[in-house]
Formats: sequence, structure tokens, C-alpha cells
Amino acid sequence: MNGTSVGHFINGAFLDASERRASVTNPATGEITRSVALASEAVVDAAVKAAAEAFPAWRATAPAKRARIMFRYRELLERDIDEIAALITSEHGKVLDDAKGEVARGIEVVEYACGAPELLKGEHAKDVGPRIDSWSEFHPLGVVAGITPFNFPAMVPMWMFPMALICGNTFVLKPSEKDPSASMKLASLLKEAGLPDGVFNVVNGDKAAVDALLGNHDVQAVSFVGSTPIARYIYEVGTKNGKRIQALGGAKNHAIIMPDADIDNAVNALMGAAYGSCGERCMAISVAICVGDDIADAVVAKLKAKIAEMKVGPGSDITNAMGPLVTREHFEKVRGYVDLGVEEGADLVVDGRGFTVPGHESGNFLGACLFDNVSKNMRIYNEEIFGPVLCVVRANNQQEAMSLIDDHEFGNGTCIFTRDGESARFFTDNIKVGMVGVNVPLPVPVAIHSFGGWKQSLFGDLYAYGPDSVRFYTRRKTITQRWPTGGVRENIEFAFPSATRKESH
Ligand code: NAD
Repeated sequence: MNGTSVGHFINGAFLDASERRASVTNPATGEITRSVALASEAVVDAAVKAAAEAFPAWRATAPAKRARIMFRYRELLERDIDEIAALITSEHGKVLDDAKGEVARGIEVVEYACGAPELLKGEHAKDVGPRIDSWSEFHPLGVVAGITPFNFPAMVPMWMFPMALICGNTFVLKPSEKDPSASMKLASLLKEAGLPDGVFNVVNGDKAAVDALLGNHDVQAVSFVGSTPIARYIYEVGTKNGKRIQALGGAKNHAIIMPDADIDNAVNALMGAAYGSCGERCMAISVAICVGDDIADAVVAKLKAKIAEMKVGPGSDITNAMGPLVTREHFEKVRGYVDLGVEEGADLVVDGRGFTVPGHESGNFLGACLFDNVSKNMRIYNEEIFGPVLCVVRANNQQEAMSLIDDHEFGNGTCIFTRDGESARFFTDNIKVGMVGVNVPLPVPVAIHSFGGWKQSLFGDLYAYGPDSVRFYTRRKTITQRWPTGGVRENIEFAFPSATRKESH
């Protein structure tokens, strides 16, 4: 990275060669602040080649040595967390505290990755047959790629590469072209931590770079996080090309507020979960289902009052609770959904359109929006808006509320607010969603678990980070071994071997 020009990171060096470029803007001001290279197929192939060449030596590096690099990396991330957060805020727009929070969640995955020797020690079984032992080893795949979205420019890449690397793979990251700088900083810290050249590479770019990764024979697996249509595309093309794929998609996360809920705590939780990061989180709560009209009236009134107190402005001012949307294009899309909700007949209780921040009139600021009486036939209910728009739906009972969630095409996260253990247990047992909270609005699993949704929120079988990622980034080899002892002759056996069959010793 060179001031205002963001290039690539290949074989341990920052490069700036590319035919095409895109602009990166500061969402709080609308100014173009940087330009980012858009990799051609040749640039992607060069990154994959560097990764392929680095693979044999990295694969042969002891897991404990890989872990040592991760330990150093963790310290460097802590050292530079303010700088990384500032880069995120300048390109994504989220407030600095929130940006630091995402780096901290990424560091938790790095900490988990530091357990490489434990995670990769395999499985052993002695005496599975006469004088026969058997064990499973977890071998790296080779070159793996990560393709990431704009909304967590540091955390989502860190969901992927720390685990891929400690498993012995080499990596090519293709970050979002909307906010590429955090990834370049993550790359420079890996180099400083002592990661050998070529083990980790970054290619910036758009669809052309993604297609080049999907078409490259040396790429063994792809981790993708982004919107559902692109996730489906990555899964279909990648698996057709023989690659292992995990593709995490979009979301529409519902919270149920039961009549017995602690309303003030639920409303506070909804404020953060709906409007934090301007609603640009895949785990954001975008639908609040209130069970009963009394609870709905109370929740809507309290939300309205809290929104009036919420400070919106540039993310660099830490007194602000909510910053701008990422780009002008995305701002127009989200505002269009607010217009649509009005046309569809929902009640717009709080209208954030027309909101401006003095001195930042060209920023992508949309005030918080709150709809009441949203119903399941509306597009604002069915589609992911990915902005500061909360839809309140009224239901008569818990079963009706849960059916709404189960019938929805997405199944990423959900939460129930209640004081009743029986309701909560029925909810966690039966709801068709991958990540479930009880009085926890953003149930993002910690690094020792794995992250993933159900239905159209994930294509593939294994979740991101945690134990699933060790399985995703390795292939199993099972060895069965016998050393005949002196004097014993092996009989010829024509029957299929079995440990429980009567054997002559
Ligand atoms: P996106 O799908 O537009 O982009 C994601 C990545 O795909 C980027 O690197 C982008 O360059 C690339 N891409 C975009 N269009 C492409 C195309 N036509 N062909 C190939 N590649 C393409 O997503 P976004 O707008 O950057 O991020 C927001 C979306 O990500 C939301 O839908 C959100 O729910 C989702 N998301 C999901 C999770 C999750 O864990 N499920 C986490 C974060 C974000």
C-alpha cells in the first residue's frame, strides 16, 4: 500500500501493477481517498503461483512453529489495533469503537489458531485388530482462497486465514474492493510476524479476480462471505470446478420479544443490534416480532424515544453511535427500501430519510428508520436491506412468531427475549436458524465454536472458524498399521477384515 494507492501483496511484496482501478471513498465525506487495483487473471495467477510454491516448505513446518508466528501476530495486532480501526472507519464508516471490536473478534480467532499443535494432533486408536493400530492425520489442502465482504474488512478475513495457515495451507485473500486497506495492513503484520513470503497473499479486485480464483486449478478450496446470490454462484462454480467450498450468504435476523420480556433491556439490545454499524452486519436484527399488541406498542414507543437520543455522525467521532452507509450506491438502495416500505403500507414510525450531518452533507448518512405493522408479504420483510431499518411485526403467540422465522428464506441468527426458561428452551430446540440467542441479540459464536447459518445463509457443510475450520482446511488421512512380530506367519485371508471376527493369534 502506498498512501492513496492500494495494490496487491504477492510473495511478500507490495505491488501496484494493474490495468484497471476503482475508487475508494470516505463514507462520512463522500470524498475519493484512495484508488484500488483490480487484479487481472494474470495477477491472480501470479499470487496463486507464489502460494503454490510456498506450500511445500510451509506444509513441512511444524505446527508449533506455525503457532509461534501466530503468537507474534497476535501481539502485533494488539499493538496496531488503533491504526487498523482507523483504516476501517475511514473506508467503511463504522464508529471507531465498533471497528476496534471487529479487530478484537478477529484476534480471538488468531488466539484459537495459536493452539495449532493441539488442533492438529489427530486421532489415535491402538489395537483396532490383532497387533494393529490406526490413526487419522489432518493434512493441509494446498492453496486456499478467501473472498470477503465490505462489512467486516478485518474480522471476516481473520475468520479465515489464521485457521487456514496454521493448518499448513497457503492463502490468497480477495478482500472487498470497497474497503481494501485493512487487509493490506493485516498482510504487512503477518510479514513482520515472520510468516515466510508467499504463504499469505492479497489480490485486490472485483468479479474478474474472483472468477480467476474459481478457475485456477491450484486453488483447492474457497471460503466466501458475502451476499446470497454471490455465495450461491461461488458454491456452484467452485464445486463444479472440483473445489471445496464454504459460502456464507445474507441474512434477515428476527428477534422475538415475548410478553414477559424485560422490555427495557430488550429495547436497549435491539437498538445496538439494529442500528450498530448502520445495520450493515450479517447478524444485525432487522425484524422485531412482538408477541401481543401491548408489548408491540411499548417496544415501538421506547424505540422511538431511544432513536431520538441516538447520535449519528462520522465514525471518527467516538461520541457517535452510528456512522454513514458504506457507499452512495448502497445509501440509495437502502433509502429506496424505506420508500418501498411506505408504498407497501407499513407504518414508518421514524423516518431517517433527509437526515444530514452539518459539515458532512456529502456523506452517506441515513438516520435510523423504524417501521411498525410490517407483514410477511412485504418486500421490506422478505429482502435483506442491510441498513439502519428495523421492521416491527406483530404476532399473537410464540408459535406464530417462530413460524415466521422458520418460513423465511434466511437462517443466519435469531434471538428470543423472555424470562421464561420453557419458552426459551422450546425456541432453541426448534427454531430453524444456525445461531440462536436467548436475551443475547447478536449471538455471534466465540472463536472456540464455529460461525454459520442455515437455509440460504450458507452453502456448504462446514462453518467458519472454530473446530469446523480445522476440518474445512484439512483433509483426513487414516493409517492402519501392523508390524508382524518374529515367528508369527500371516495367514492368507479372503474374507473382508473385521476386528470383531474370530481371529487366530
Ligand atoms: P457481496 O456479495 O457484494 O461481495 C462479497 C465479495 O464478492 C466481495 O469480495 C466482492 O468483490 C465479490 N463479488 C461481488 N460481486 C461479485 C460477482 N458478481 N461475482 C463474483 N464476485 C463478486 O457482499 P457485500 O456487499 O460486500 O457484503 C454484504 C453482504 O455480505 C450482505 O449480504 C451480508 O449479509 C453478507 N455477509 C454475510 C456474513 C455471514 O457470515 N453470513 C457475514 C458478513 C456479511
